[in-house]
Amino acid sequence: MSSCSRVALVTGANKGIGFAITRDLCRKFLGVVVLTARDEARGKAAVQQLQAEGLSPRFHQLDIDDLQSIRALRDFLLKEYGGLDILVNNAGIAFKSRVVNVSSMLSLRALKNCSPELQQKFRSDTITEEELVGLMNKFVDDTKRGVHEKEGWPNSAYGVIKIGVTVLSRIQARKLSEQRKGDKILLNACCPGRRAIDDLQSIRALRDFLLKEYGGLDVLVNNAGIAFKNADPTPFHIQAEVTMKTNFFGTQDVCTELLPLMKPGGRVVNVSSMASLRALKNCSPELQQKFRSDTITEEELVGLMNKFVDDTKRGVHEKEGWPNSAYGVIKIGVTVLSRIQARKLSEQRKGDKILLNACCPGWVRTDMAGPEAPKSPEEGAETPVYLALLPPNAEGPHGQFVQEKQVEQCPGPNHHQETNSNAKMKQQQQQLQQEQGRRDPTS
Ligand code: NDP
Repeated sequence: MSSCSRVALVTGANKGIGFAITRDLCRKFLGVVVLTARDEARGKAAVQQLQAEGLSPRFHQLDIDDLQSIRALRDFLLKEYGGLDILVNNAGIAFKSRVVNVSSMLSLRALKNCSPELQQKFRSDTITEEELVGLMNKFVDDTKRGVHEKEGWPNSAYGVIKIGVTVLSRIQARKLSEQRKGDKILLNACCPGRRAIDDLQSIRALRDFLLKEYGGLDVLVNNAGIAFKNADPTPFHIQAEVTMKTNFFGTQDVCTELLPLMKPGGRVVNVSSMASLRALKNCSPELQQKFRSDTITEEELVGLMNKFVDDTKRGVHEKEGWPNSAYGVIKIGVTVLSRIQARKLSEQRKGDKILLNACCPGWVRTDMAGPEAPKSPEEGAETPVYLALLPPNAEGPHGQFVQEKQVEQCPGPNHHQETNSNAKMKQQQQQLQQEQGRRDPTS
């Protein structure tokens, strides 16, 4: 696949609104559409369903809670659409060098399919290069003798060999740290069972390099999300923590890893909810001021999101000025994160004209919101798809909150006034109450 292919990607696309967005993009987007799902079987079933309709999405696993899975997807994208298996070998120069062994996502999958004994060996912090070579040789021998499966190996030679590359990188990094301590050589690889051996700077250097040399993404729809059902007895603070992990931090992690791959003219859509605007109005004036600030940073936002979860754990969230909807507060996070990211894109990639927005799909009949909702998933997909396919010369919307293809009151400092007519607002509030009632027992 060449880096000339245009690529669109939707998270949480095996059902509901994400599935409908994917179907619509398959019809309207000139390029490859990647359907992602956390569960491979559910994702592949969704792909088959679209294939039966004559559409051809590609599939990739993505669990947005799992940083490894996000990075595996990133590598897949770079490999398939930007070219990968890159060795930037500059180690000989030593000072401030960067060595990058980019392994394949297949190494992660292959590792998971190894026997527990083999996994333990590969994941060991003290494995030596000699031991690794021994294991690689044993794999080839075992295949020759036709006993590789009996010996605990998965059925992918490519995958096993990529485990070798990944683990070798880890060993080499360890050696460099030990033997050439002062030389500041940075060595990276995607490492099974742990975060990349890294500092953030070198990940960014790799990412920027790949972005410059190869392709990237044209459309990213962050749709994946969860919501506890109304009747769910899970304690509020646990609901807050679990929902925060997926809906806010999962979305943030996907953005951190994939936004740098956005090509000029790219479009990013973060699926939020009107619940965020409502929850914002129910925050204390101090919190509202923080969320509406034009200069709020991602770090400050993360601090606020963590504080919310901590406050629920200590049973003081209401006293601390939070509304009683975990889902709503967390969607504030998604909406404000989108504003921050849009600002960053404008500052850092000014000429690239990437447009990033948050949106509400409306109240949609899905597993999340129930059968009473007025909109079909296809109707729910309309606004996200509209934002995903904003024409190339469009100047905006950017950094906005969009519903029904219209920019809504955005929780920024200059948007305190309602932009809706009273009747429309009333209808939306009614809708929201129903939508939230289903999701959040405390709202
Ligand atoms: P569904 O529950 O029908 O679908 C949610 C999708 O997200 C599923 O594919 C689910 O996968 C996936 N998902 C959940 N967690 C993860 C994860 N960790 N990694 C990857 N995928 C994950 O919900 P909807 O289609 O209704 O919701 C889609 C988005 O729209 C959500 O962000 C939601 O908050 C938002 N929204 C929905 C409204 C509505 O009325 N429906 C209203 C306003 C906003 P799996 O099948 O494996 O669980």
